[in-house]
Amino acid sequence: MNHGHVYFIGAGPGAPDLITVRGRDLILAADVVIFADSLVDPAMCDYARQDAQIIGSSTLTLEEIMATMIAAAQEGKAVVRLHSGDPALYGATHEQIVRLNEAGVPWSIVPGVSSAFAAAAILGAELTVPEITQTVIFSRLSGRASPVPPREELRSLASHGCSLVLFLSVSHMRRVVGDLLEGGYTQDTPAAVVYRATWPDELILRGTLADIADQVREAKLTKQALVLVGPALSAATAQQERRSRLYAPDHSHLFRVAKPAAHSQA
Ligand code: SAH
Repeated sequence: MNHGHVYFIGAGPGAPDLITVRGRDLILAADVVIFADSLVDPAMCDYARQDAQIIGSSTLTLEEIMATMIAAAQEGKAVVRLHSGDPALYGATHEQIVRLNEAGVPWSIVPGVSSAFAAAAILGAELTVPEITQTVIFSRLSGRASPVPPREELRSLASHGCSLVLFLSVSHMRRVVGDLLEGGYTQDTPAAVVYRATWPDELILRGTLADIADQVREAKLTKQALVLVGPALSAATAQQERRSRLYAPDHSHLFRVAKPAAHSQA
């Protein structure tokens, strides 16, 4: 581990064993750990040294976080900035990196398991089922703090009919469903909501665009949940095999020559 360096680390969706080995080893060696305590389990910090300085970031401003991070790095300390899921998605890392660059502090990023993939795993779904869809869109509704550019409005994203994963949007489920239906998904398009994926109080709602908003209201979910939509999630898709050509016996690729049917029996 480099000293005088900031490591942005993806902590994964919640369960402490879903951080990467690299991420955990860096926490083990860090002098300072700043963690997003609203979405990262404090148990993650149990990996840290007894004498490490642990700081929760949820009540701090960007300026306060940066002042702490930069001062520690300039004193030659190894700093870990722990984000939920993967830092590349809604991690607010960009604004921190700009300021580290200004201060001349070196940094690097260690990926993590996004809650999007934890949710797909929980639902037992491949988001890119051959012949059904080969595209996944990650997006969100506009929020007070982060407006979404007009050309990325849900209505226009919906026109692709592909797999869709929405972060930070469950509190406006009626609007989500309305926009998706206007944009081209149908009432019977499968939809799911996963609340606190991989945490002990995880909750899964499955349905279609016709009933998912009611389910969310009944469960009173307003945060820490993902909305997944699209034909890849349907039970019918799960029962009907859509295989990838990659593993087809008559398909050759770099690691395997085609096995003609007669040979493959042998
Ligand atoms: N970088 C994170 C996302 C941070 S934005 C990632 O890759 O997962 C925070 C939003 O992510 C939450 O409002 C919620 O929509 C989603 N989220 C994060 N962790 C979650 C979890 N364990 N279960 C469900 N949704 C989660």
